[in-house]
Amino acid sequence: MTDLQPPASHFIDGAFTEDAAGDPIDSMFPATGETVARLHAATPAIVEAALASATAGQAAWAAMDGAARGRVLCRAAGLMRDRNRALSLLETYDTGKPLQETLVADAASGADTLDYFGGLAADLTGTTLPLGRDWAYTLREPLGVCVGIGAWNYPTQIACWKAAPALAAGNAMVFKPSEITPLGALQVAAILHEAGLPPGVFNVLQGGGDVGAALVDDPRVAKVSLTGSAETGRRVYSLAAQGMKQATMELGGKSPLIVFDDAGLDDAVAGALLGNMYSAGQICSNGTRVFVQRSVLAPFLDRLKARVEAMIVGDPRDEATQLGPLVSETQMHRVLGFVDRGRTAARLVTGGHRLDRPGFYVAPTVFADVTDDMEIAREEIFGPVMSVLSFETEAEVTARANATPYGLSAGIFTADLTRAHRMAQRLQAGTVWINAYNLTPAGMPFGGVKASGFGRENARAAMESYTRTKSVYVGMGPVDAPY
Ligand code: NDP
Repeated sequence: MTDLQPPASHFIDGAFTEDAAGDPIDSMFPATGETVARLHAATPAIVEAALASATAGQAAWAAMDGAARGRVLCRAAGLMRDRNRALSLLETYDTGKPLQETLVADAASGADTLDYFGGLAADLTGTTLPLGRDWAYTLREPLGVCVGIGAWNYPTQIACWKAAPALAAGNAMVFKPSEITPLGALQVAAILHEAGLPPGVFNVLQGGGDVGAALVDDPRVAKVSLTGSAETGRRVYSLAAQGMKQATMELGGKSPLIVFDDAGLDDAVAGALLGNMYSAGQICSNGTRVFVQRSVLAPFLDRLKARVEAMIVGDPRDEATQLGPLVSETQMHRVLGFVDRGRTAARLVTGGHRLDRPGFYVAPTVFADVTDDMEIAREEIFGPVMSVLSFETEAEVTARANATPYGLSAGIFTADLTRAHRMAQRLQAGTVWINAYNLTPAGMPFGGVKASGFGRENARAAMESYTRTKSVYVGMGPVDAPY
């Protein structure tokens, strides 16, 4: 084993904890297929220890004042920034994403979120309602023990995006990363502890869907926040409903990215590349249906093809590499399946094959002449595969963009200010980017509509979603009873 082996599989009650009786989980470096760490799935004893520790830790944490809680989160943000390179390298081994990306998008985004919610923690306010002689006010109380369940594409970022608002509001969290990427969240837990987080307030345990379901099903748990596929979202949401628990569902998408003929074409091509090739396309909010107005379709495709074919594909540990492997062999074969079926219907512009090298690489792929009914225009592929469609009018493209069960994100490239804002209102999506794509600052709410889920991560909305409102009515005079 390499030095990526963590001290133990789980982080519970402020310490690394092991139970080797759990099924083995191997963490594999997707660029080589080499095993870099071996962990174990949580046994029922580990699940119990995590929930008991969270229940005990939460009470003391909630009793602290918000400013003190916030200082812990801000200290953790500083530690993450100090160790950004080591954390980024770990993330690169865990996911296969290029170091060029992980250096700026993973621990760095996690630190931004910890800082943001650290600042907000002292500002968890209610409202007052004057009622003549009487009055009422509201309190925002933490929910208690919350469960976070992560996908494999952004393991460190997802752990921080869920932990920071939950902890800022006075909750404890038990977090389960994807079993494909078990390493990053453990480091987040260790850093939070080093920054002064009391034992039990943030626990990480490993395991698959069965461990996630055991957590969601436990009566001590008040809320679950899931990042994952729509299919898993349906299962987790219905389990949460059985216990009348709160839920945030950050699920998949098939988002439209719309390029009008007045757009800066190079910016639109750059947006389409960012929205399809970053993280080898393994991003839920990607704009995988690129609608280009017919009059600029040919120059758009020419510039796109040239830039895709100039992309540096290689070892993700090399900072020059722009595109690395997919996260796993299973995901690679899934993506290649979409590509093979896609080429029978659409025109392959570039890519379309596995790369002849070790690891799970798919060449950056662009399809043109894609129509709305094709599988590649309907299904979430989660790989470096872009579908280009054409359109004539704003009304037509708006209707086609919305004709999907999903509603996570959308992008518009245009120089026409009024059209941009008109479309932002009409597109069915949780986030709309105008002349930009896939930027998710900590202060901007992020989440989906329709089958892409509900609830928001980031911004004040996320912190409030980890609270419940209590109303307090204050009678100020004699009680007037009719009997
Ligand atoms: P999955 O839906 O397969 O898994 C997500 C997480 O849920 C994993 O930790 C998984 O465990 C766990 N899980 C699976 N079944 C259950 C269950 N019954 N009860 C509780 N937990 C369960 O997603 P992937 O990890 O494959 O991630 C890719 C998907 O996530 C894509 O569809 C993508 O669109 C979506 N996604 C959405 C984002 C968003 O913010 N909207 C962001 C990133 C990804 P395990 O896998 O370990 O078995």
